[in-house]
Order: sequence, then C-alpha cells, then structure tokens
Amino acid sequence: MLYLSTRGHADRKRFCEILLEGLAPDGGLYLPETYPQVSAATLEQWRKLPYASLAFEVLSLYIDDIPPADLKAICEKTYTEEVFGTKEIVPLRKLDDGLYLEALSNGPTLAFKDMAMQLLGNLFEYELARRGEELNILGATSGDTGSAAEYAMRGKKGVRVFMTSPQGRMSPFQQAQMFSLQDANIHNLALEGVFDDCQDIVKAVSNDLDFKRTYRIGTVNSINWARLMAQVVYYFAGYFQATEATGAARVSFTVPSGNFGNVCAGHVARMMGLPIEKLVVATNENDVLDEFFRTGVYRVRGSADTHETSSPSMDISKASNFERFVFDLLGRDAARVADLFGAQLARQGCFDLSADPVFRSAAQHYGFASGKSTHADRLATIRDTFERFGTMIDTHTADGLKVARVHLQPGVPMVVLETALPIKFAETIQEALGRLPDRPAKFEGIEALPKRVQVMPADVALVQAYIVRHVN
Ligand SMILES: *Cc1c(COP(=O)(O)O)cnc(C)c1O
Repeated sequence: MLYLSTRGHADRKRFCEILLEGLAPDGGLYLPETYPQVSAATLEQWRKLPYASLAFEVLSLYIDDIPPADLKAICEKTYTEEVFGTKEIVPLRKLDDGLYLEALSNGPTLAFKDMAMQLLGNLFEYELARRGEELNILGATSGDTGSAAEYAMRGKKGVRVFMTSPQGRMSPFQQAQMFSLQDANIHNLALEGVFDDCQDIVKAVSNDLDFKRTYRIGTVNSINWARLMAQVVYYFAGYFQATEATGAARVSFTVPSGNFGNVCAGHVARMMGLPIEKLVVATNENDVLDEFFRTGVYRVRGSADTHETSSPSMDISKASNFERFVFDLLGRDAARVADLFGAQLARQGCFDLSADPVFRSAAQHYGFASGKSTHADRLATIRDTFERFGTMIDTHTADGLKVARVHLQPGVPMVVLETALPIKFAETIQEALGRLPDRPAKFEGIEALPKRVQVMPADVALVQAYIVRHVN
C-alpha cells in the first residue's frame, strides 16, 4: 500500500514513512492510493472478533511494512480492558429504539482521542526503536488533544512531548490531568497567551527547518494518517453491534465534529464497503462544516468569528482534515484540490462548490448530512437524556445527539459517537442538571496532586531554548 498527497506533488510513500510526518511536502494530506475493499463475507468473519483482532485486520489492509506478528502484538498491547475499561472496548448503549451511543471515551483521558493516540504511542515507540531514532513531539492544546498525547507517550522510549497550552484557560480537571503527570519525558509548557499564540509558536518552530532537523521535532496533530486509520476500526465495531442488536442491514452514524478527523474515518470505512447509510456531521456554533454541507460554500473563519463554546473541542476556525474528503468528492483531482485549498483559500478565505454537480454527490453518493447545535440545545439535550434515560452525556456528545434526532430514518439504527465523558465539562453539566457529574474513581482528587508545569511568556525563542535544555 502506497500513500499519495491530496495535492499531487509529493512522492508516494509507505506507511512507516508517513507515520512520523505531518503534512506532505507539497502542503497536502496523505491518503492511501486506493481504499481496500471489504467483502460481505469478510465482514461476517470479522463480526465476532475481539476489538484488538478487528483492529489488526483493518490495519493490516493499510500497513505492509510492519511484520504481521509485530502489528498484532501492537494492537493487542493497545486495546485492552485494563486501558479502555470494558472487554468490548467501545460498547454500544441503547437510548431510544434505533438510537444508540457508542462509548469511545473510556480510555485514560476520557475522550475519544485516546482510541487513536494510544495506538500512535505504541507505533511511534516501535518504529523509533527500529530506526534507532528519537522524536520530540511539539504540540499545542486547549484540552483533549494534549492530554491524550501525553497519556499515550508517557514513559515511551525514544519520545519526548513538549505540550504548550494557554495558561489558565483549560478547565481545572484538564489542567490536573496533564500537569499531574510526573514522567520525565513529558513537558507541560503553560504559555501566557491564548490558544492561537500556542499554535503560532508550534508553527514557527516547525517552520524553522534547521531547528526542526537538529532537534528532531515532530507532531501528533489530527491530520496524521495513522490516527485517522485507527479511528476507522470503531466504525466497524459500532456497525457490528448495531446490526446485531436490531437485525438491520445498514447503520447511520452521527459524529460531533471539529477538524473533521473523526467523521473522515467514517468516510474511509464507508469507502471500504462498510454498509453505512448516512454520516451526519454535527457542529456547534462554529458551523464551518454544517455550512458546507448545507450550501456548498466552505468559508474559513477568522479568530474574531470563532466562538468560545461549551463544547470547546469543536471550536475550530477551519477543519484541517476536510481536504481529504474534498479530494475524493472531486474524483481525486489533485490539481483542483491544490487550487481550492492552496490558492483560493489564501486569496479569499473560501471556496464555493454550490454550482458544481459534484456538490450534490456529497449527500447522494457519499451519504453526508449535517446539522448544528447551540448552547441552549446542548443544555436541553443533556437534561432530556438524563431525565428520560438516566444517562449523563457530555456537551460534545449532546451536540451529536441533538443533530442525530433530526436525521433518524425508520429501519436504520443511528449510532451517535460519544466523544468525551461529562466529568471533563462539569461546569456545563452543573448548569444543565443542577448537579455535578460522577467522577470515575481513578480521577478522585486529581486537582490536589503536585503539578509539573513550566509557565513562560508566549515567545518562540524561549520555547526553543526550553526544548534545547531538555533534549540532551
Ligand atoms: C477532538 C474532539 C472532537 C472533534 O473531533 P474532530 O476529529 O476534530 O472532528 C469532538 N469532541 C471531542 C470531545 C473532542 O475531543
């Protein structure tokens, strides 16, 4: 299996070569040359597999430069009951008839990002050992990504993490999760600024090619193909459980979305032949994606138009994985993708496919639908779900559930992906329900643990100097 760039001007590469890379050198995103096809007979064989074995089967179709026995061992080490809380790893929970939640948030940091990041940690450690190399991961986080990356990389050989975050802006629970880690290879840098300042610094360091090479700087952001690929697996697992429970032949998914990474994995699963009816993209007030699927216009927002909401992990100004889907939508026309995402976005901050016949195929051929949810919707959905089903959901999952209800179809089970647990967003749960969410036992009292964090001005040179001091 070889990987190509959505902009058409990068060498084709094998999996382990793109594993440690971010963007392709031409600014595009990597995708497999073709989507491997899974037949109905193979699907039936996979139906009863434990999650780690299912992951191995799916990943094997995309990775041919890791020996199968090693890949199997990596999958089995990653997806354990001990780490993810249940034998099923991603159990389905029924709400109404035909309406389910798929639990993706029972990993170490209580958000779905653990599903991919835990695998990435083990893949990185394996590949770096094989090459005899080291990697220093530099990232920016406003919450879920940073903690998922740190819990995945803690104690891993050959890897250090330098995670910047805006000082004082994450919830106390999120700060405690990250800053309480005492592992020597994990470094928390709280910068005196906002999230955009952190991101700008990460970009500036990554663009300093000498520094990047000398200090072996890498990233784990959501455009990493390995993360996306790991997410494909739970669409299969959700499909098997929903069809088992209902006898239906096809299943729809609703996905609380920000950077389009999670739902793009659903698109890949569907392209492989998984019988998915609809892929419903749910956004919050930051509705870049809902706008595209409603109108055909993709309009990147400025920071002044990017709202701070009560589902903060979906507060995005542009959807960094969206280019992958548009590449497929345009019949894999790389020159056109390069024009839209390169020239047109740079010139006018938007592009418009409304008049192009391909726009209609987003819904008709690729099964996409969308909707938007607001703070008031979120509160009402959290309250309604708790009152009627006794189930407490987080704010992002609430956005998903609100939008899912609009897209229900008779005879097609709808699976809403649960992207975080309510304890991470306790303030809004308190606002909706007048009480705090239950806290899983292992997080009792974490706010009181000693914190390991370096506070510093948002300054590129200071961040670089910190890295230099801690690499050798
Ligand atoms: C990251 C995140 C999302 C958005 O996922 P994308 O892959 O960026 O679309 C939604 N909910 C939660 C809780 C998240 O952490």
